[in-house]
Amino acid sequence: MNKKITIAIDGFSSTGKSTIAKKLARHLNYIYVDTGAMYRAVALYALENGLITATDFDHEGLVSHLPDITLKFIYNPALAHSEVYLNGINVEGKIRSMEVSNVVSRVAAVPEVREKLVEQQRFMGRDKGVVMDGRDIGTVVFPDAELKLFMNAGAKARAERRTAELKAEGREVTYEDVLRNIEERDYIDANRKDSPLQKAPDAIDIENTDLTIEGLFDKILKLVDDVM
Ligand code: C5P
Repeated sequence: MNKKITIAIDGFSSTGKSTIAKKLARHLNYIYVDTGAMYRAVALYALENGLITATDFDHEGLVSHLPDITLKFIYNPALAHSEVYLNGINVEGKIRSMEVSNVVSRVAAVPEVREKLVEQQRFMGRDKGVVMDGRDIGTVVFPDAELKLFMNAGAKARAERRTAELKAEGREVTYEDVLRNIEERDYIDANRKDSPLQKAPDAIDIENTDLTIEGLFDKILKLVDDVM
């Protein structure tokens, strides 16, 4: 039997990280952890409790509420992946909204928020056999991961894919709003002081502007085989 490894998938917004991570986890029978969903759930909490708006952010208020925030992933067999629960409530539908997307990067820049979520992420991946996607998995959460991928694709291709995904979920979004949000999040994520989005020196660049999901998956499976 192959040894169990840790697979860290980082990269810019909407570069296909979660699509590939989910597919890979299913194929390998590994746990999949969508760390973006965790930051999004905390951002949703901040919105619902009036701690953040488009212009204001009660940073200290959010930090003082952190002990009241419980996040859990529960496997949904019908979807064949886990869904995130905020204080016992399934928030998968709510966390993908543009309202959450527009504030999440400011929430994710708060060191105390990161500390809490990174601890939980390390716990979830403690036994290996995990595919985790995010922005700091290969650099901070699991710097010893056996396989690290850094995904990127052109901004236009990313915004087109993301707009199509959101529309397929029945959300009313425009390409322009999605593109603006992607660019803004990339900027904040790459420039924050704590755990900025950057490629780990030992991560493999996966540029996928012109690759189909199948092409991308085949390429990544070969990389997995090489380290297993
Ligand atoms: O992956 P997703 O696009 O859903 O992530 C939403 C946001 O959460 C990112 O734009 C980033 O601000 C934050 N995030 C992070 N670190 C991670 C995962 C996500 O800061 N590991």
